[in-house]
Order: sequence, then structure tokens, then C-alpha cells
Amino acid sequence: MTHDRSRPLLAGNWKMHQTLAEARALASAVAAASRELAGADIILAPPFTALAEVRRALAGSPVGLAGQNLFWEEKGAFTGEVSAPLLKDAGCSHVIIGHSERRQHFGETDASVRKKIKSALQAGLVPIVCVGESLGEREAGRTMDVIAGQLEGGLDGLDADEAGRIVLAYEPVWAIGTGRTASPDQAEEVHGFIRGRLEESYGGELSSCAIILYGGSVKAANTCSLFKEKDIDGALVGGASLEPGSFIEIVREAIKGRKERQ
Ligand code: PEP
Repeated sequence: MTHDRSRPLLAGNWKMHQTLAEARALASAVAAASRELAGADIILAPPFTALAEVRRALAGSPVGLAGQNLFWEEKGAFTGEVSAPLLKDAGCSHVIIGHSERRQHFGETDASVRKKIKSALQAGLVPIVCVGESLGEREAGRTMDVIAGQLEGGLDGLDADEAGRIVLAYEPVWAIGTGRTASPDQAEEVHGFIRGRLEESYGGELSSCAIILYGGSVKAANTCSLFKEKDIDGALVGGASLEPGSFIEIVREAIKGRKERQ
């Protein structure tokens, strides 16, 4: 699945939720709605245990499948880990890398993010690479320094072809799962900054095509205003992607916001 900025990209991150039965019901509802949501690209990221179930439920629909994480080695004695080729084999087109919850609870660093991006690209997966500042960092006026550091550290050594195949997600840590969303202006400011950094590193052609998602308490009520911003190309949705009605409504609002922007 390749993306084009004219179509909003909505990815549902189910985190550590959904039994097989719940996953089947949720994915089936999204697959059924995807026919009338043809103006957007949709991806679901279930837990590893539900990948096969969700893949079956999405068969024949345009909805993509993503892993929530991977380990960078291809195979071997790494108990509990899942590699990029295994995700690809399970039917994934995408993989989330460097989510703040992984940075916070599981010691993910920019160096591990970099290795994971490389292995994902090598396996033909689209990495969705997350960056974002904490509340303390924002309040200390360090937002742009933090984002610049994460981009520099995470993308270091990627050539333009590799960088052109990743999707970035700006996810302010203070907005994830808190019900507190960045305002459209706050999000746009950082998205514009990210695009500017990509331009400095890889040139205008790449930066103008780059897909940059926003994540952090996205709900149907705040989606349209976010999607009117010129540098917001999609959303990574956590909590609100666990209920089919709210996720489908977010996709509709994203399509609407995008139309109002043009
Ligand atoms: C996320 O999981 O990336 C996320 C943004 O979660 P939420 O929408 O619940 O804030």
C-alpha cells in the first residue's frame, strides 16, 4: 500500500486490547464500512495474537494490516519477539515503530527505532515512525529540539529512497490517552517543522510528498479541524479506534476536513 497526500491515512492502534472474537467483530465492521470510505486509506494495528484473525476479516477489503512493533533481527533465539519478515508473512503492510508507550515502558531509543526502520523497509513493510514530546518538554519550550533529536536519531543513515517509504506520526506524549488533544495550530506547527527538517535532509520533493500523521486523543469531534491543516495527512488513533462507530466516524470526518481544506 503506497500513500498519496491527497487521501487521508487513518491507522487504528488497538494496543493491548481485543480478544479474537472482539477483533473479528471490529475488523469486520471497519471492512464493511471501508466501501463507503473510499476517499481514505485505512490501516488496523491489532495485537500480534489477532493478526491472523483480522487478516481474515479484512480479506477482499482495501483496509491494511499493521504490527504494533517488531524486533530488528530477521530470525533467531529472541524469545517473545516478532521480526519484520514474520509480520510480512502474517499479512502486514505496515508496522508502528517507536510509539511513545514503547519508549516509556520498554526502553525503546532512537537507536533501536533506527534499526527497526531498516529491518521493516528491508522486509517491504511501511514503518509508521512515532515522535513526540512530553508535557515537561513542551512546557520547557523544548518541543522542536526533542522532535529534531528524535528525527535525527531515528532516521540517521537512511537514504532518500528509504526515507521516502516511511510514514511519520507526531504524537505529543501529553495527548496520548489523556483526552487532551493538541490544538490544530499546535499540531500544525510541529507537522510543518517536521516537513521542514525532511526538506533540509532530503530535499523539497521528498518533504512535499511525506505523509505525517497526528496522534493524541483523536476523536470524531476534533478530527475535521485537524484535517483542515495543510501539513496533517492522517491520524494514528488509539482509544477511539476500539469501537467501530467512533473509528468510522473519524474516517468520515477526516475525509470531510480534507475536502474543506482543498
Ligand atoms: C496512540 O495509541 O497512538 C494514540 C494516539 O492513542 P489515543 O488516540 O488513545 O490518544
